[in-house]
Amino acid sequence: MSDTIFDKIINREIPADIIYEDDIALAFKDINPQAPVHFLIIPKKQIATVNDISKDDREIVGHLYWLAGEIARKEGFAEEGFRTVMNCNEFGGQTVYHIHVHVLAGKPLGWPPYQDRVKKNPMEA
Ligand code: AMP
Repeated sequence: MSDTIFDKIINREIPADIIYEDDIALAFKDINPQAPVHFLIIPKKQIATVNDISKDDREIVGHLYWLAGEIARKEGFAEEGFRTVMNCNEFGGQTVYHIHVHVLAGKPLGWPPYQDRVKKNPMEA
């Protein structure tokens, strides 16, 4: 698997606003925030998509979600709530092929969270 921009962030080849790091994971602010709080939690291991998570990776992926709650508690937005999202492949809207948990917070978030790319025919009722 080839390196993505997130591997370059892990290896400090490009800068990022890193908010947490341990042996398994890294968390940093999203460069294009979609909410007042928007950061990404990534594994240091290269896993391209949700489809590539193996049985042996379960502890790593669990760690990413544990961290989401841990950071939310420490940053003080756990109680008011937040959203975690992991996009998969084209229809899921994935653009970086190194799995990452989006953590969005700081305002009430709408549902459903997507905007359909297929425009409805305005002539249809
Ligand atoms: P996704 O579309 O789910 O694959 O999410 C990729 C996310 O990575 C997007 O929200 C981007 O804004 C974010 N992103 C891309 N490049 C960087 C970067 N260099 N630093 C921080 N976030 C980035």
